[in-house]
Amino acid sequence: MPKPANTKTENKPKEKAKKKIGGVSILYKVENDKVTRSRPTCERCGPGYFMADHESRYTCGHCGFTRYRQK
Ligand SMILES: [Zn+2]
Repeated sequence: MPKPANTKTENKPKEKAKKKIGGVSILYKVENDKVTRSRPTCERCGPGYFMADHESRYTCGHCGFTRYRQK
């Protein structure tokens, strides 16, 4: 089905391109030849499952586990 030329798609921002920042690399920090994890891993799911970084807590997107930040 051919699209008509004047549809509203013209002003649509390309959000997909914006979101593709980092990838796996944001999960690790390299400092002085040492690799450190920038986020904690899930206690339930084990290492390899990184938790999402929120303002006051971390959450696991895999099992839903929430851990509050400690000072
Ligand atoms: Zn988990």
